[in-house]
Amino acid sequence: MTAHAPARLDAHGWFVALLDAVGSGPIGKRVRQCPGHGDGAPSLSVGRGEDGRVLLHCHAGCDTRKVLAALRCPMARLFKPATTTPVRFARMFCGGLTFPPLDMRGSGHPGGRGYRFESEHPYGDRWWLIRHRHPVTGAKELSWECRNPDGLRVPGLLGTPTAALPAYMAAEVGKAVAMGEPVLLVESESSVDALMRAGWYATTWAGGAASVQVRPLRAVLADYPHTVVIPDHDDPGLAALATLRTAGLAPHVLMPDPGEDARELLARVGPGAFRSLIEEMTR
Ligand SMILES: [Zn+2]
Repeated sequence: MTAHAPARLDAHGWFVALLDAVGSGPIGKRVRQCPGHGDGAPSLSVGRGEDGRVLLHCHAGCDTRKVLAALRCPMARLFKPATTTPVRFARMFCGGLTFPPLDMRGSGHPGGRGYRFESEHPYGDRWWLIRHRHPVTGAKELSWECRNPDGLRVPGLLGTPTAALPAYMAAEVGKAVAMGEPVLLVESESSVDALMRAGWYATTWAGGAASVQVRPLRAVLADYPHTVVIPDHDDPGLAALATLRTAGLAPHVLMPDPGEDARELLARVGPGAFRSLIEEMTR
């Protein structure tokens, strides 16, 4: 071991220290400014794989080669740290590299912009919808995470369209269908969670009222006679209901009062009356 050998950094540790040294921010975060393009908002996801190897993904579209070329860094550095320290390497090879001022407002991880984690909604075992809320403004922000081919959770859907995701709680809905139990088809993950806590099987689709995903719903509910759609009683909700009717996914409809959604209907009428309404329809 020479005097210059870095102290026990694996490839991931070395690479992260190199990003620190060249000024890619924000330091300490998993998603950093990408050296491959003029990246103001952090979009380079830097993961740690098996044996400490580096897993890179630029959400703006740079391939790994382009990211490494900008750092004058050979591909081998993703698997094995250099004997040179990251600071020395940056000084020797990355002198011309600059980044625009860090902009955390428009994109990047919501947690980096003062948002607080509120809830997480799994779509199967590979996709998650994450809900953040700002503690001061109350603003809500939704983002996706998915499992990449290496099994790590990373931001975004890596190109998977929301239409290709399963229905929300699809496995539970499958059980309900097998037992002949009513399935409540509603418009948001939060409504599904509230109804399931109240003892109902419920589901929705990825993407909200504006983009009804017929295919994943048909996969679990095609021709199922005990589906009850509870739309949001507003214009987007009624439009979504029309789409579900056309697709044959609305054998029964329970309409909340104007302005209400399924969860608010349940809260207003109470669990007993709610149960009577559903049972009258699906008996
Ligand atoms: Zn990039």
